[in-house]
Amino acid sequence: MEDKGVRFKIRRALRWFWWQVKYLFALVFSRKLVAKCGHNTRIKDKVSAFGDYVLTELPVNDDGSVDYCHKCIEKMAIQCAWCGKPIFIGARITLYSPTAKYQVPEYAVTYNHDPSFRLVLVGCVRSTCTDFGSFDASGVWAPPGEVQRIPRVEELLLASGAKAAIVSGDSVTLVK
Ligand SMILES: [Zn+2]
Ligand SMILES: [Zn+2]
Repeated sequence: MEDKGVRFKIRRALRWFWWQVKYLFALVFSRKLVAKCGHNTRIKDKVSAFGDYVLTELPVNDDGSVDYCHKCIEKMAIQCAWCGKPIFIGARITLYSPTAKYQVPEYAVTYNHDPSFRLVLVGCVRSTCTDFGSFDASGVWAPPGEVQRIPRVEELLLASGAKAAIVSGDSVTLVK
């Protein structure tokens, strides 16, 4: 048991060290510019919220500009409706409905375009999140703080009227 604890501590220390190296590289080499929100920013920088942090690379527009700085992106982070951990801009998300028994936390973000439809909550895809078995990412958390849907294979099939879909990794080929 003792041995396992030590190994865990070493792994955690290594991970922390590797994170610091990546962060240092971002600080030194990442391009600096003024984002459209009006703030000075780097292309790559640290974003933290609700006790967690990530390195985020800002999406660059075709003309080389960026829409938001990291401080503004940071404010768009939300908490997972199930485990409460942060969901940062750019993170993949799940859309699940709670059972009647589930006490929906106050910070939960709902995803409902049609109020007559079932309640759908925005959740994270962490393996440590509440036990759903497997995670089916149905979107990405995007600026200014909304769900950008990734159509599922069934939805693509329905919309296109194709006979079948060949799924290979991230790509889907529709068979008419
Ligand atoms: Zn800003
Ligand atoms: Zn979660």
